[in-house]
Amino acid sequence: MEIIRTPQEMQRRALELERAGHMVGFVPTMGFLHDGHLSLMHLARSRCDVLVASIFVNPAQFGPNEDLDAYPRDFARDEALCEAAGVDIVFYPEPASMYASDASVWIDETRLSQGLCGASRPGHFRGVCTVVAKLFNLVRPDVAVFGEKDAQQLRIIERMVRDLDFPVEIVRGPTVREADGLAMSSRNKYLDASQRRDALCLKRSLDEVTDMVRQGERQVAVLRDAMADGIGKVAAAAIDYIEFVDDATLVPVQLVEGRTLVAMAVKIGPTRLIDNAVLEP
Ligand code: AMP
Repeated sequence: MEIIRTPQEMQRRALELERAGHMVGFVPTMGFLHDGHLSLMHLARSRCDVLVASIFVNPAQFGPNEDLDAYPRDFARDEALCEAAGVDIVFYPEPASMYASDASVWIDETRLSQGLCGASRPGHFRGVCTVVAKLFNLVRPDVAVFGEKDAQQLRIIERMVRDLDFPVEIVRGPTVREADGLAMSSRNKYLDASQRRDALCLKRSLDEVTDMVRQGERQVAVLRDAMADGIGKVAAAAIDYIEFVDDATLVPVQLVEGRTLVAMAVKIGPTRLIDNAVLEP
């Protein structure tokens, strides 16, 4: 497995692979890998003959009061996991090498990023789109896999690829969960034992509304109240948002009529967790 530390070397290698006719698969991550990331690597592996994974905690997608410095990092462990997952090239750039100090071009998605995490994390998706576009230019993948865990991010990347004509196919990877239902996340590391138990309220509330919709409930106000009531019983939990939106446009809906994304962000103590489900009436 190769480890590439500079954008210049990554792009040189990508061009070489392209000229040699390789099918390149790509999984971008912020590292501190878990089985969710590894499932994306396995999915990508089945679609390519050279697999590239990136590990880069992208400063541009963190707000001034967010957890950039505290974000968990363990490159030695990530390296071993990548190797075991069949990754051929790990792109692990120095943060300073990715952005010029006077960088002044950014990618702004202007519709899908208005609500949900876009509303509570201003500038977040601009940072995400910009780094993903840069990574696509450096890695030049044929296929890139993103997780449904970050439902809004996934849809925004698909939109960026469509609207800016990136020559890459985006593949969706299902959310991988712990045995008790908690969506895997590098940020779960922040949770102590009692917060870890409290964090189950996210998936529990998603399961509850999925059942309610199955039994015929269509009113978003009723569904949202049920979620808020359940989460309200957990003292350590504070709702950032619970939103029901059209699965394609991310526009809020009042009734669950077509494919509806229910997405949530909840703080468990200081740790902000997200999760989502797609409701199909
Ligand atoms: P991150 O390292 O958190 O930026 O995530 C890198 C990629 O892994 C993104 O495409 C995420 O959506 C995806 N991902 C994160 N957690 C999970 C999970 N539990 N299951 C599947 N994919 C995930």
